[in-house]
Amino acid sequence: MKLVSKPAGGGKNEGNGALNKQPILIVGAGLSGAVIGRALAEAGHEVTILDERPHAAGNCHTERDAETDVMVHVYGPHIFHTDDAGVWEYVNRFTTFKPYMNRVKSTAQGQVFSLPVNLHTINQFFGSTLRPDEARALITGKADKTLTDPQNFEEQALSMIGRELYEAFFKGYTQKQWGCEPTDLPASILKRLPLRFNYDDNYFFHKYQGMPENGYTPMVEAILDHPGITLRLNTRFERADAAGFGHVFYSGPLDGWYDCDLGRLGYRTLDFERFIAEGDYQGCAVMNYPGLDVPFTRITEHKHFSPWESHHGSVLYREFSRACEPGDIPYYPIRLAAEQELLTAYVARAQAESGVTFVGRLGTYRYLDMDVTIREAMTAAEMFLTATASNKPMPAFAVNPT
Ligand code: UDP
Repeated sequence: MKLVSKPAGGGKNEGNGALNKQPILIVGAGLSGAVIGRALAEAGHEVTILDERPHAAGNCHTERDAETDVMVHVYGPHIFHTDDAGVWEYVNRFTTFKPYMNRVKSTAQGQVFSLPVNLHTINQFFGSTLRPDEARALITGKADKTLTDPQNFEEQALSMIGRELYEAFFKGYTQKQWGCEPTDLPASILKRLPLRFNYDDNYFFHKYQGMPENGYTPMVEAILDHPGITLRLNTRFERADAAGFGHVFYSGPLDGWYDCDLGRLGYRTLDFERFIAEGDYQGCAVMNYPGLDVPFTRITEHKHFSPWESHHGSVLYREFSRACEPGDIPYYPIRLAAEQELLTAYVARAQAESGVTFVGRLGTYRYLDMDVTIREAMTAAEMFLTATASNKPMPAFAVNPT
């Protein structure tokens, strides 16, 4: 990888005709951009990757805290988990993963509970000593059986766990996190979380789970480390930069490509209130606060994301969610009905373009986990290589976002 600090305009890769490969521009050095860039560079393309930030890895960027030396997930917690053996093998090519299991707690109604909702949570909450079948019977009795086809987040929760658990753990958290009523949100958001009738408190179902030993940024830098890749950090993309490149992969916000001229796709952004403690502040990496009596959603204690390290000091983030305004970092696509309509309009427009493919969480306006992002990036690169080999156009999306 050549690291270039100053922008130099498009077309610098002209003259790669010996390989009969087009120079490629990739906007964004996050997971999507790095994985696509690597695949295309390995296939012989000259790849230029721009990122407006001073670092690679996008929102999974990690860096050591200057005060405590703790590895910090600068844009919030990222835990790698997947069932996709190919993706797991891919990331392990570029870094060493340490065992890490995400175990989240929730401070609700004056007590600390185990998450995701499991037998411990149920017994804690109802002050009981139920065995699995008894707990299942209790929750089945509480679940709203009239909701056979849940249409939104609230209906999904009520049909799964009933009103008491929903109101204790999900309602307030979701109102704070998404800034709207859970009845306005898709059921799919809750489907991310399991409900268990045993004491398994692993937050994820997936077969493979871990944390890169030295953080995510060195992993992404290793993916980018190929002689065919030129990385330009601190470089904001302008549409004119695309001139001279055979194809552009754009992992920035889809509406941003069009200067938001049809309107802005809604996102939630996060504010992190950093604070320092000595020793161990909360005893776990993630403590959720679902109550509306506190304005933040959770506190993350970053040293617990690297349990194999030892530090005297501790650095923590209180996480606040709010509407994303121009200039803020977009985190979570909201995808309410109004956004769906706007998204459809942008997607139709994008599909009429040639020479650009929109990728990743922002490019496709979807709430993507890291493993899915990587898999989709691998797919996009394969599609591009197949299309160019047969002189066919590469579509605007490898995965339809609507
Ligand atoms: N959620 C909740 N209470 C919790 C944890 C999650 O209500 O204690 C809901 C909330 O709407 C959240 C969604 O479940 O946005 C998905 O949670 P997850 O922990 O996967 O969120 P992420 O870590 O991606 O922000």
